[in-house]
Amino acid sequence: MRTRDDWQRLARAIEPRHQVFIDGSFADAADGASFDTVNPANGLVLASVARGGAVDVDRAVAAARRAFASGAWSRSAPAHRKAVLLRLADLIRSNADELALLDTLDGGKLIGDTSTVDVPGSAAILQWYAEAVDKQYGEVAPTAPGDLAIITREPLGVVGAVVPWNYPLEMAIWKLAPALAAGNSVVLKPAEESPLSALRLAELAVEAGLPDGVLNVVPGLGEEAGQALGRHPDVDAIAFTGSTAVGKLFLRYAGESNMKQVWIEAGGKSANLVFADAADLDHVADKAVFGIFGCSGQVCSANSRLLVEESIADDLLERIRVRAADLRVGDPLDPASTMGPIITAKQLERVLGYIEAGRAESGLAFGGRRLHEASGGYYVEPTAFRDVPTTAVIEREEVFGPLLAVSTFREESEAVARANASEYGLAASVFTDSLSRARRVASALRAGTVSVNTVDALDVTVPFGGVGQSGFGRDLSLHALDKFTALKTTWFAGPAAG
Ligand code: NAD
Repeated sequence: MRTRDDWQRLARAIEPRHQVFIDGSFADAADGASFDTVNPANGLVLASVARGGAVDVDRAVAAARRAFASGAWSRSAPAHRKAVLLRLADLIRSNADELALLDTLDGGKLIGDTSTVDVPGSAAILQWYAEAVDKQYGEVAPTAPGDLAIITREPLGVVGAVVPWNYPLEMAIWKLAPALAAGNSVVLKPAEESPLSALRLAELAVEAGLPDGVLNVVPGLGEEAGQALGRHPDVDAIAFTGSTAVGKLFLRYAGESNMKQVWIEAGGKSANLVFADAADLDHVADKAVFGIFGCSGQVCSANSRLLVEESIADDLLERIRVRAADLRVGDPLDPASTMGPIITAKQLERVLGYIEAGRAESGLAFGGRRLHEASGGYYVEPTAFRDVPTTAVIEREEVFGPLLAVSTFREESEAVARANASEYGLAASVFTDSLSRARRVASALRAGTVSVNTVDALDVTVPFGGVGQSGFGRDLSLHALDKFTALKTTWFAGPAAG
């Protein structure tokens, strides 16, 4: 197994790509502007990256449109697209160390996660869509005899993909894999906090045989490159993952420009309901800890609200406290670390602000302090508050950090009502040994995914997305192809009578 020294040595050998990638080539931003991307583990500048703006987005969209119109990708045989995307999946695997390191250095994600989950998971998702694309059939409508109507799925054209920083490579792949498999061209705007793996991915895509212009990557700031993409008159669809507030902006951009399709996958405040009939509290505690402290709580579906039946609350909370105390918060390049830093200094301040709000409104159960300040990194203790009132800020707002809000209930109906009393509806979890309760509660919960006796159930085979202000788009599964295709009816009139 690799040590921290091994990873540091590998990291020193990386030369991050840092320019915009348009029509198969890297270039500086049109106005020469750049921005710094910072390593959250030490607060030091990692790379100076081209700050794409409206002119760069325009060039990227034009390249994407040309590539789409040429048909080299959009009208190629599904078996051809499959072969190219399978090659890209293989290239992700053969460049796994570099991609894992880029997401660890740029996004502060544990190397133990990026090397075993994010990168192999991205390759597997790409492979899944590649293998699916030549197994999709159209339909023949039940018309009157003589007529023939066929229903086919056509690629949309130019798709803008705008993604967050918490899973930089994987979030990009969630969009790119189905969009490209369906034959679209894509302009990807990675998050300004973590643009590096997407730039390397674009280069690998060309190496795999993707025609120039089919995948373009424009790093830059949200209000500049992101907005330019959202308002561009020649973009057919936006696939967005990020905060609810920015998701709403994309809906506005579309309404104020060309009414492009907009798919929103946004934030969450997922509830984890634990009933006293769940016999294995060690299992519940393991999952609850993973559910809120995994990825430092920076997960859209993080189980940030724990609703536990009163009679087992003290017992469960103690088991969670013990496990949280065992987490090794530290350098994400060290394979021994089990929790890394928060993404930016600004987000650290935000999380610390929520901790202060929690102290004012609830009881601190454990944690609550900043850690390793001398390192320059943005580390926070795993933190939990108990007896959190329904009105508390930490009960209602998405913190996007390692902060658990714990409350108790006596009745099942009380737990369900509290879980559903959120503007979000991304995910929920239920722990119970009663099958009938599991089915009843799962069906009553307002969420895109309900995990029973686990947390954060997620797989490429099932759709992922939310309801309410968590958005409405669905990533993963064959359903994701719906976002990137339009149904087309072609009607062949029957021969004239006589
Ligand atoms: P964010 O909304 O700030 O940014 C997401 C993307 O939007 C980035 O690429 C950013 O540059 C861009 N952007 C920001 N401001 C913009 C603007 N004014 N116009 C156009 N584009 C703009 O989100 P974030 O902080 O990067 O990520 C955290 C959020 O993402 C959380 O709310 C989290 O719940 C959500 N998220 C959701 C899912 C999901 O699948 N539902 C997955 C991961 C993260």
